[in-house]
Amino acid sequence: MTETTILSSAARTPSREEIEQAFREAYEIGRAATITGKVADYIPELAKANPRAFGIAMLDGEGNRLAFGDTDTRFSIQSVCKVIILAVSLKTKGFRETFSHVMMEPSGDAFNSILKLDTRSNLPFNPLINAGAIQLVSTLADEFSFEDLMGFARELCMDEGICLDQAVYHSEFESGNRNRAIAYLLKSKGVLQGDPEKTVDLYFKLCSLSVTARSLASLGLVISNDGVNPLTGEHLIDPEHVRTIKSLMFTCGLYDFSGRFGVMVGVPGKSGVGGGLMCAARGPMGIGLYGPALDEFGNSVAGVKAMEHLSRRLNLHVFDY
Ligand code: GLN
Repeated sequence: MTETTILSSAARTPSREEIEQAFREAYEIGRAATITGKVADYIPELAKANPRAFGIAMLDGEGNRLAFGDTDTRFSIQSVCKVIILAVSLKTKGFRETFSHVMMEPSGDAFNSILKLDTRSNLPFNPLINAGAIQLVSTLADEFSFEDLMGFARELCMDEGICLDQAVYHSEFESGNRNRAIAYLLKSKGVLQGDPEKTVDLYFKLCSLSVTARSLASLGLVISNDGVNPLTGEHLIDPEHVRTIKSLMFTCGLYDFSGRFGVMVGVPGKSGVGGGLMCAARGPMGIGLYGPALDEFGNSVAGVKAMEHLSRRLNLHVFDY
């Protein structure tokens, strides 16, 4: 039994006080861990983030909220938008067509890797790495404007304040040649649809949507609640699609750290290089974390540490029950 285990795996439901205490501890642990990471600088605008910032927000199905630290700070959603892109693709194209453009396998490579795309397969390994998201964006770009997709992000995140962070967008546009290379490689293979430049432009804009830890908690809640916003009763994502989304978040959501996160935390999650981490825990419960100091894989060090603690304390691991 580890020091942090308080509940037996014969999962009794933790009390409100136990939940609050666990989040408080997770916040302290996460905040202390920020010194071990580094903010992303390959997109110059992201290097301006405060590496010591950390916030953790929770929203449950009854509308109970917890928030510790920097939960109102706006930051760019980055790769967490890939979940939204996947949801839109599943909704409009359906399962079969979506997975005729992209596979559903963990890549084991970095999020922006081009390697296996060139050597192993024509289709991107999964929708939650850059190549997969860029591919899906190419299939949506004719049908949806940036504003349409931002509207859907606002609904899912229950956050009307979400807007385009122009500075991050311009920075991504200027420094995004690796993503352009991925788009052109996909085009050369006859996989990417439409214009690679138009595709990456929309992808950069979606990565530059500004969110907060609270917005990510709301998104996590909708996903953990089978696609229904429990506060309004609105059906936003088909439950069958949520099953697919959660499975891919579990297996691929933290890039080449997904296996370890699956073992240590065991909660479907999705990270972004802006420092965001969105988790869909059972309950239903959404957890949104913001800590821009990243590990070598591009995941928030504080976010991962805090989630490890919460998973143990509250038996959140999918194999705890
Ligand atoms: N916009 C970033 C990129 O394309 C997203 C990557 C991430 O968050 N891991 O490089």
